[in-house]
Amino acid sequence: SYPVITLDGPGGAGKGTISRLVAEALGWHLLDSGAIYRLAALSCRRQGVALDNEGRVAELARALDIAFEPEEATTRVLLGGEDVSCAIRTEQAGGDASRVASLPSVRQALLDRQRHFAMSPGLVADGRDMGTVVFPTAALKIFLTASADERAQRRWRQLQEAGIHASLPDLLKEIQTRDARDMERSTSPLVPAEDAIVLDTTSSSIEDVVSHVMSLAQA
Ligand code: C5P
Repeated sequence: SYPVITLDGPGGAGKGTISRLVAEALGWHLLDSGAIYRLAALSCRRQGVALDNEGRVAELARALDIAFEPEEATTRVLLGGEDVSCAIRTEQAGGDASRVASLPSVRQALLDRQRHFAMSPGLVADGRDMGTVVFPTAALKIFLTASADERAQRRWRQLQEAGIHASLPDLLKEIQTRDARDMERSTSPLVPAEDAIVLDTTSSSIEDVVSHVMSLAQA
C-alpha cells in the first residue's frame, strides 16, 4: 500500500489550499473528498433525485461518472464529461453536499472510490473522515481547525476575490449549521482521529501551516 497523509477538519480551516500545496511539494496525488460529495449532490439535483432519498442518492453516488484534471493552481472537475468546477463551489452546492453526506449508505457507496486515489508515490487526502474511516492506517494524520469567525472571514475573502459579494453574518451562520451537521451525524462524525495531530490555524499563515505539515511528513 502507498503512503497517505490525511488532512481533516471543518470547512474553511484551510484544508483545500494546504492539501494542494503539500501534495505539490511531495509530488503526490491529491484527493478532494468534499468535491466527491459535492458532485454526488449536484448529480442528484440534475437528475431530479431528492437529497434525502437515501437509496436513490446512494445508487447515483455509486454510478457517478467523475474526473479530476490537475491544472496550474486548481483542479478541473468533470461530471459526465462536463466541466462543473464552478457549479460545485457555490454555497448551495456545499449545503447540498453536507445533506447527502449525512446519509450512511451514501458514505458507504463512496468508500472504495476514495480509496482508489491511494496510488504511487503517495496521496494527500483532504476531508472530514479521511483519518478516521477512509484511511485509518495513514502514517500521518492532521486535523486542521480554526475559529468559526476566522473561517467565515476566509470564505468571505475567497468569494470577494472571485467577484462574488456575500454577507459575512450569513456565511458564519452557514458554517455553524454545516459544522453542527458534520459533528452530529451518526456515521463518520467530524472528530479528529485518535492519532491525529491537531493544528489550530486561526492565526497562522498558509506558508506556516504548509511548512509545519511538511516537517511532520519528513520526520
Ligand atoms: O470540504 P467541502 O466543503 O468541499 O465538503 C462539502 C461537504 O461534504 C462538507 O460540508 C461535509 O458535510 C461533506 N464531507 C464529508 N466527508 C468528507 C468530505 C466532505 O462529509 N470526507
